[in-house]
Amino acid sequence: MPERIIYDYVAVIGVDGMGNFNKNTETPNIDRIFKDYAETYYGYSMLPTISAQNWGGMLLGASPAVHGLTNGYISQFEHDRENLPSVFKRIREVYPDAYLASFVNWNPINHGLIEHNLGVEMGTNGNDSVLTDMIIPAVMKKPKFLFVQFDNVDGAGHKNDYGTEGHLKQISITDEYIGRIFEAYEKAGILKDTLFIVTADHGGFNKGHGGFTVGEKYVYLGARGKGVKKGGIGFYRTKDISSIVLYALGVDYPEFDEFGYSSQVPDGIFPETMGCYKLIEGEANIPSPRPTPDLYDEKGLYNFINKDNLKLGLFFNSNLDDVTGHSKAVEKGLVKFYNQGIYDSRAEFGATGSALYPEIKVSDKGFTFASWVWKQEIKGIVPLFGNLDFTKRPEGAGFHILQRSEDVLIVLFGNNNQCEFMAPLPEAVSEGWVHIMISVDAEKGTIQHYLNFKPTVSAKYNTEIYNNFNGDSFVVGSDRSENKVKELFYLDDLLLFDGVLSRDEIAKLAEYYK
Ligand SMILES: [Zn+2]
Repeated sequence: MPERIIYDYVAVIGVDGMGNFNKNTETPNIDRIFKDYAETYYGYSMLPTISAQNWGGMLLGASPAVHGLTNGYISQFEHDRENLPSVFKRIREVYPDAYLASFVNWNPINHGLIEHNLGVEMGTNGNDSVLTDMIIPAVMKKPKFLFVQFDNVDGAGHKNDYGTEGHLKQISITDEYIGRIFEAYEKAGILKDTLFIVTADHGGFNKGHGGFTVGEKYVYLGARGKGVKKGGIGFYRTKDISSIVLYALGVDYPEFDEFGYSSQVPDGIFPETMGCYKLIEGEANIPSPRPTPDLYDEKGLYNFINKDNLKLGLFFNSNLDDVTGHSKAVEKGLVKFYNQGIYDSRAEFGATGSALYPEIKVSDKGFTFASWVWKQEIKGIVPLFGNLDFTKRPEGAGFHILQRSEDVLIVLFGNNNQCEFMAPLPEAVSEGWVHIMISVDAEKGTIQHYLNFKPTVSAKYNTEIYNNFNGDSFVVGSDRSENKVKELFYLDDLLLFDGVLSRDEIAKLAEYYK
């Protein structure tokens, strides 16, 4: 096992609202600082992806649900979480005479997250450039721990939309400030004994943040120090900053406690701590995207299914195309695609947009839907897909498939009646991909639901009432005229088959996704 290195100094520079958008713009300083060290662009902000929740997580080492701090609270009240001392207090107990400093643009961090009786030098300024001027002399005093929060990037995101030019430009400007601080460490002669870290509290989406989208939840983490090897960093959440800092400085910290201090050292920063991260079951159910095999290839979909039965195939690989060619897609609003799919990208529907497939009708004999859905916390109910208007109580015969936090609902409509079936999603997955299949056998009047290719609930319905499901246009998401759904949801590889699939056919489909 490699020998543990105790660092003399640690610097954490947090860029508010940067998420991992630094990968989309010029950041010559971040690039050169971390080039030969450890980095990830897929660390996690914690829900809600808001400042106090995540800066609080970083400095106190706990989840938002445990520390309970909000932007409003830390603006008003000083640190009062007796059971969750800040990382500064834990350092102070071991290093009573050390110079510790916190320089932040957003003052509630100094006001509400750090105890005021520790002798920590605190500086604040609403301009990141001026703040940097204040930080340089502090670095010359060789801080055992320096914490910095820049805020102008977040401001630019709120103003211009996250990920757009105005936001990205500010990231490049902040990169210069990071470069200046880094050079100050060189000048002070302490760089080689410093663990130097850059991260973010959250990203953003449109002009805001707080939700769970890819733009909001992913954050960058770069770590440079003499013991750090070049490579990636494992599962990391913002609250892990506490443990990274304390471990580097040789300060003990509490054992993992889901309801208390739950900060952990991620894999990839300290070579000797590999494998110590305690993964919470279900949270890492995120496949790495891989390219979609060609339909007709050995590994392609058509090698695993009867292609004559496939009515609609939506891979969402950066477009809404039906790969079977049976229907054109009509986009309403804006559907977004993210590189987090089962194969290539996944599609985000809901508040932003939806898609219609006017030529698609389900078979009178019955039909089967197969799709990957992203299980997540949903406040209400979101319409995944169906063929009747989701925005009002439908007339006519058809169906809706909807998602809630813990289940999927299948609703059949016919002759002014409706019946509902609830199909559970796995409890162990709090957030991640789940494969669902729904078979409607219109001749027998049965519905069968499958979860991750295994049968779960089945139900019977009255074929005299529900005897055709033709509906209107097939729609993914909710939209006929205007979008009523404010929650986002994610789908990948939505397939519609004629008829009911046999167990063998389902096993073959499972094999395709292996
Ligand atoms: Zn923030």
